[in-house]
Amino acid sequence: MKESVLIAGGGVAALEAALALADLAPGEVDVTICSPRPNFVYRPYAVGVPYGVSRVVTYDLGRLAAAAGARHRPDSIASIDRESRLAVTHDGESIPYGDLIVCPGAKLLWPVPGASTFWGIADERDVGKVMAEIREGGTRRVAFTMPSVESWALPLYELALLARAELDRTGDDAELTIVTPEDAPLQVFGRGVAEGMAELLAERRIEVRTGTHPVRFEHGALETVPAGSIPFDRVISLPKLEGRRIRGVPHDVEGFVRIDSHCKVLGCDHVYAAGDVTSFPVKQGGLATQQADVVAEAIAARLGAVATPGEFDPILRGVLWTGAGPRYLEGWLAGGHGEAATMTTAPPWGADQGKIVGRYLTEFLAGVAA
Ligand SMILES: Cc1cc2nc3c(=O)[nH]c(=O)nc-3n(C[C@H](O)[C@H](O)[C@H](O)COP(=O)(O)OP(=O)(O)OC[C@H]3O[C@@H](n4cnc5c(N)ncnc54)[C@H](O)[C@@H]3O)c2cc1C
Repeated sequence: MKESVLIAGGGVAALEAALALADLAPGEVDVTICSPRPNFVYRPYAVGVPYGVSRVVTYDLGRLAAAAGARHRPDSIASIDRESRLAVTHDGESIPYGDLIVCPGAKLLWPVPGASTFWGIADERDVGKVMAEIREGGTRRVAFTMPSVESWALPLYELALLARAELDRTGDDAELTIVTPEDAPLQVFGRGVAEGMAELLAERRIEVRTGTHPVRFEHGALETVPAGSIPFDRVISLPKLEGRRIRGVPHDVEGFVRIDSHCKVLGCDHVYAAGDVTSFPVKQGGLATQQADVVAEAIAARLGAVATPGEFDPILRGVLWTGAGPRYLEGWLAGGHGEAATMTTAPPWGADQGKIVGRYLTEFLAGVAA
């Protein structure tokens, strides 16, 4: 009999897990992707929407699931009963599972009172409005910020770089500043990238204030910690993230789920987690795929389809849109790889097939799009 694998989520980690299971344990698993939304939304392209250089792509989740060898069930999971291995939907229906993969992502919260928030969805009117105000001459000083180092920082830098490119194109000018709690721009990738970013931002006349947490924006000033007040006309912030809770799955105070090196939820048999919902401090699509691969290997190994399951050894890969050709960023997050952060004009990982770099998902989506 096939092992029934229930995936709670219908995003990046969910699809990668389904694809990896189909590859590693073909014919041995029966996979259901349980997610309330009918679509899979590819959010990284949202940064270009306010500047008219990209659009957010959405795919029919049922069709993607079928192509990945799984089925889509349009429900959301409210709770689980670990003893009897049952997941219960918000409508009260019980779904038995052999293994559960928890990947409902993160909730996006309002981060900085008074600031406009960039939510990363198709309709980004606020950023577009700020650009229009600059062109009309009413707005001169714009800050781009994020509430904590745990936010995925890349879109912050892209928003500022694309704004500069757009202003150069239209012959307008404004002071653009990045206010970030990081110690250096995109520090999470490592020193090589942070140095390259500092140079690129200086070249594009974008000021960076590091080690600075935004608190609120009112009366034309951004209040910050350490104590300070910086005058701006407009402030655009990335949202704050909190884990999406499923009752019965242990989580920390912010809703994030703790996992071991095989991405098994601590203290829970047959329950794994991957993606933004985990307590791993960097929330990124590429990392979500790497965790999903580790989960699939752990399940396949238990079924005897894989000899030795791999452990989560995160490598961060990002495609930064600059408004003048992309930069490809790569850095190992765990120790033992030396100082290996790079920023290049060609992707060191092979073809550029999108902004989320995953073993299976990248090529799969490129194939679907084609
Ligand atoms: C503007 C922006 C730009 C980004 N750029 C990049 C980038 O360039 N590169 C990169 O790698 N990453 C990028 N990211 C981050 C990336 O999008 C996320 O890290 C990634 O989507 C996380 O995957 P996930 O599967 O954990 O969650 P998600 O992809 O958010 O999917 C969660 C899924 O779970 C479903 N769900 C929610 N609750 C339940 C429930 N109770 N039961 C069942 N299903 C549920 C949701 O409907 C959704 O389908 C960007 C994010 C944003 C916002």
